[in-house]
Amino acid sequence: MDSLCAACGKPVKGGIGMGGTLLCRQCEPEISAEIEKLRSQGKPVNVAHIAHRIYKETHSGGNYLLRDIPEDLWLKAKHRAVDDGDSLRDLVLKALHAYLK
Ligand SMILES: [Zn+2]
Repeated sequence: MDSLCAACGKPVKGGIGMGGTLLCRQCEPEISAEIEKLRSQGKPVNVAHIAHRIYKETHSGGNYLLRDIPEDLWLKAKHRAVDDGDSLRDLVLKALHAYLK
């Protein structure tokens, strides 16, 4: 079984172990830069957390969670979706299509 890079999820050949976390050579510079930044800010460094965050950012294609939508805007949009027979998914996709026109 191949070992997988904790940041990109790809199989690792000759990877680098950092703080108990396995990284490939392509991801290591990005993680090192992040570690440098955290250290310079005096913040705790957790390589596994940094790698996991990068992994999630890399693999979020097509998924997006939106918080704090203005409540009245969201209510109006939901009511309109019900009136039009649209799901909330339809509503968001229609908005994206409209934006791209
Ligand atoms: Zn990697």
